[in-house]
Amino acid sequence: MTLYLKILSFIKPYWKAISAAVLLTFIYVLFNNISLWVTVDFINEIFTKDQSEKVEVVQQDESKDSDKKLLAVIKNAFKSVIIQDNKYDTLLLICLVIFVSFFIKNIALYSKKVILNYVEIKLIVNFRNKLHEKMLHLPLSYFDKRHSGELTSIVFNDVNALKTVLQSSFGKMILSPVQILFNVVLLFIISWELSLLTLIIVPVSTFVIIKIGQSMRRRSRKVFRQIANVMATFQEAISSVRIVKAFTNEQKEINKFYDTNLDYFKKQFRANRLKYATSPINEVLLVLMLVFLLWYGGNLVYANDGLKADDFLYFLVFLFTMFKPIKDLSGINNVLQSGFAAAERVFEILDEEEEVYEKAGAIKIESFSKQIEFTDLNFRYNETEPLVINDVSFTVNKGEMVAFVGHSGSGKTTLVNLLPRFYEPDSGQIVMDGHDIRDLTLHSLRHQMSIVTQDTILFNDTIRANIAYGLEDVSDDEIIDAAKVANAWEFIKKMEKGLDAHIGEKGTRLSGGQKQRLSIARAILKNPAILILDEATSALDTESERLVQQAIDNLLESRTVLVIAHRLSTITNATKIVVMNDGKIEAIGKHNELLSTCETYKKLSQDQIIEV
Ligand code: ADP
Ligand code: MG
Repeated sequence: MTLYLKILSFIKPYWKAISAAVLLTFIYVLFNNISLWVTVDFINEIFTKDQSEKVEVVQQDESKDSDKKLLAVIKNAFKSVIIQDNKYDTLLLICLVIFVSFFIKNIALYSKKVILNYVEIKLIVNFRNKLHEKMLHLPLSYFDKRHSGELTSIVFNDVNALKTVLQSSFGKMILSPVQILFNVVLLFIISWELSLLTLIIVPVSTFVIIKIGQSMRRRSRKVFRQIANVMATFQEAISSVRIVKAFTNEQKEINKFYDTNLDYFKKQFRANRLKYATSPINEVLLVLMLVFLLWYGGNLVYANDGLKADDFLYFLVFLFTMFKPIKDLSGINNVLQSGFAAAERVFEILDEEEEVYEKAGAIKIESFSKQIEFTDLNFRYNETEPLVINDVSFTVNKGEMVAFVGHSGSGKTTLVNLLPRFYEPDSGQIVMDGHDIRDLTLHSLRHQMSIVTQDTILFNDTIRANIAYGLEDVSDDEIIDAAKVANAWEFIKKMEKGLDAHIGEKGTRLSGGQKQRLSIARAILKNPAILILDEATSALDTESERLVQQAIDNLLESRTVLVIAHRLSTITNATKIVVMNDGKIEAIGKHNELLSTCETYKKLSQDQIIEV
């Protein structure tokens, strides 16, 4: 039920438009029925009346039955308007009424469609906006759990499914009930006996519809899950195409995708088979009812027993016009169920816990002025896995450069990621200038630092936009200065378009060292109090490394730096070296001290993991 409420909350802002659509639907059905009624009248006039010029009406339908009074009133009302003294005038008037009814009906239909379509597209756009917004507010740990292809699939395939559902059913969902309601009332007015008989069929077909609908939702859910797998598999093959080729693993990847896709085919086909069964089953049920009514009503008319031939004609016409909406409505259930399956997946993301942006009354720090204390930190990525950070405590003073060393996997990256609160420690705290960082606004906390990582993250945009990312009103001079400090200006200058050069997706048009220097320029331009460098130079060749290293050295002055590095020159300069081993701090000290006191450190430097 909550799912319905959640969907409703999205639709609620458009209640005015939807009310207008409902009103227009009423107008549409009303005029549709008027044109039908008049057509029946017309047929009656043409085929049943004798050739006398004058048509006598008005009182002829005075019924003995009191419950038929309303029917008589309606019939007379129509006849008194339409039937003229002269039958040619009558004909003309009938034609006119039919035309006007159709005209109004179609205007109503068009306006309704436009209004509903507006709401439909708006809803889809809103869903995508909300999802995008949500994704950017989700904690990083969320993205460790889910494949980006799967998330993309939800934002596009599932939301698209919602769109298809809305477009194929929103209009009918309003029209069908209105039309059925209208016609049921009319049918009861025309002959309540026959109407009651008709209703017998309702529970049977409702049961069938609901059963099929339930199964449909289950099957659709599987389809959406599978299409997400297809997308994830595809995306992975494309993004790792270099490796696939290098390991001549094409055939395996092709087979993997083939299997995933085959599975999708099976699931989709199974769902569709069921979907297509609904309409025939219902049609057969409806025809069964209709045939029965024809037989029964026909008998009544022949026996001259309380049912007039023209009443039976009205009855059949309005019953027939109910046929389509009933069929539509039963089909809608299937479509809706598959929509709900998509909506479930969309709301699963929308309901995810966000990063705590602002604790109530969170403090905004303007600057970093004294020290950061890391106290008794413990952290693990998953509850089932061992601690990645185990009882870690140390202090970083302003202006210090603290280096972290340790074997790969010892927890260095994880540790520095706790400072910008990319992950929350399970216990312990980080205190910055006397404030627990959990009491600070995320924005102001992250504003104090820049992070340069081993894998550079660049956008498919110009060099200018990449360096000035996240900053506003930056002059070209400032960008160039930052690029100079980062040793990036040399190569930017040589590019044809300079700062306006596009760097391609993920910066593919640049070398590894150039990308790295761009991201350092970005960090410099932000001019943060705290700089975090996570193996910023480890992937580079000697020449680029030298340039990047110079860039980093330029950065170090007057800043607080946490650096995870391989180069001994960086490390020996550090005020403090933290040696990490298996999530724990093994030793803290200076290079010379550690060489004599810390086995791990000694070994690291000997193994040339720390290179000179
Ligand atoms: P280092 O930077 O020292 O090489 P990391 O901090 O990257 O080490 O990793 C420490 C441990 O945490 C490793 O065992 C690694 O497998 C694990 N780990 C790192 N990132 C994640 C993650 N996002 N999800 C689960 N485990 C992770
Ligand atoms: Mg690391």
